[in-house]
Amino acid sequence: MRLFDFRCPCGKLFEDLVKSDVTTSRCSCGLDAKRVISPVRSNLEGISGDFPDAHDRWVKKREQHMAHERRQTS
Ligand SMILES: [Zn+2]
Repeated sequence: MRLFDFRCPCGKLFEDLVKSDVTTSRCSCGLDAKRVISPVRSNLEGISGDFPDAHDRWVKKREQHMAHERRQTS
Protein backbone atom coordinates (compact mmCIF):
# COMPACT_ATOMS: atom_id res chain seq x y z
CA MET A 1 0.00 0.00 0.00
CA ARG A 2 1.25 3.43 -0.88
CA LEU A 3 0.03 6.97 -0.65
CA PHE A 4 -1.01 8.47 -3.99
CA ASP A 5 -2.56 11.73 -5.10
CA PHE A 6 -5.95 11.53 -6.78
CA ARG A 7 -7.73 14.19 -8.79
CA CYS A 8 -11.50 14.04 -9.06
CA PRO A 9 -13.50 15.40 -12.02
CA CYS A 10 -15.11 17.74 -9.46
CA GLY A 11 -11.72 19.40 -9.04
CA LYS A 12 -10.86 18.00 -5.65
CA LEU A 13 -7.33 16.76 -5.07
CA PHE A 14 -6.80 14.30 -2.26
CA GLU A 15 -4.55 11.51 -1.12
CA ASP A 16 -5.43 7.91 -0.51
CA LEU A 17 -3.53 4.85 0.57
CA VAL A 18 -4.00 2.24 -2.15
CA LYS A 19 -2.25 -0.67 -3.80
CA SER A 20 0.20 0.39 -6.50
CA ASP A 21 -1.98 -1.11 -9.26
CA VAL A 22 -5.06 0.85 -8.20
CA THR A 23 -5.53 3.91 -10.40
CA THR A 24 -8.84 5.30 -9.17
CA SER A 25 -10.27 6.18 -5.78
CA ARG A 26 -13.76 7.20 -4.76
CA CYS A 27 -14.00 10.88 -4.00
CA SER A 28 -16.21 12.17 -1.21
CA CYS A 29 -18.50 13.59 -3.92
CA GLY A 30 -19.15 10.07 -5.23
CA LEU A 31 -17.16 10.29 -8.47
CA ASP A 32 -14.11 8.23 -9.31
CA ALA A 33 -10.91 10.23 -8.99
CA LYS A 34 -7.92 9.35 -11.13
CA ARG A 35 -4.49 8.77 -9.68
CA VAL A 36 -2.08 11.62 -10.32
CA ILE A 37 1.56 10.87 -10.94
CA SER A 38 3.01 14.10 -12.28
CA PRO A 39 3.02 16.22 -9.07
CA VAL A 40 5.23 13.66 -7.38
CA ARG A 41 7.64 13.66 -10.31
CA SER A 42 7.86 17.44 -10.38
CA ASN A 43 8.73 17.46 -6.70
CA LEU A 44 11.60 15.12 -7.40
CA GLU A 45 13.24 17.48 -9.87
CA GLY A 46 16.83 17.89 -8.94
CA ILE A 47 17.22 14.25 -8.08
CA SER A 48 18.81 12.65 -11.10
CA GLY A 49 20.35 9.31 -11.81
CA ASP A 50 19.27 5.98 -10.47
CA PHE A 51 17.65 6.42 -7.11
CA PRO A 52 14.84 3.86 -7.04
CA ASP A 53 14.23 4.57 -3.36
CA ALA A 54 14.10 8.34 -3.72
CA HIS A 55 10.38 8.40 -4.40
CA ASP A 56 9.50 6.16 -1.47
CA ARG A 57 11.69 8.17 0.83
CA TRP A 58 10.08 11.38 -0.39
CA VAL A 59 6.57 9.97 0.15
CA LYS A 60 7.46 8.86 3.65
CA LYS A 61 8.87 12.26 4.50
CA ARG A 62 5.77 13.93 3.11
CA GLU A 63 3.49 11.65 5.13
CA GLN A 64 5.35 12.54 8.28
CA HIS A 65 5.14 16.20 7.40
CA MET A 66 1.40 16.01 6.77
CA ALA A 67 0.81 14.03 9.97
CA HIS A 68 2.70 16.73 11.80
CA GLU A 69 0.55 19.43 10.20
CA ARG A 70 -2.62 17.55 11.08
CA ARG A 71 -1.54 17.45 14.71
CA GLN A 72 -0.96 21.18 14.68
CA THR A 73 -4.32 22.07 13.17
CA SER A 74 -6.44 19.76 15.31
ZN1 LIG B 1 -15.09 14.76 -6.23
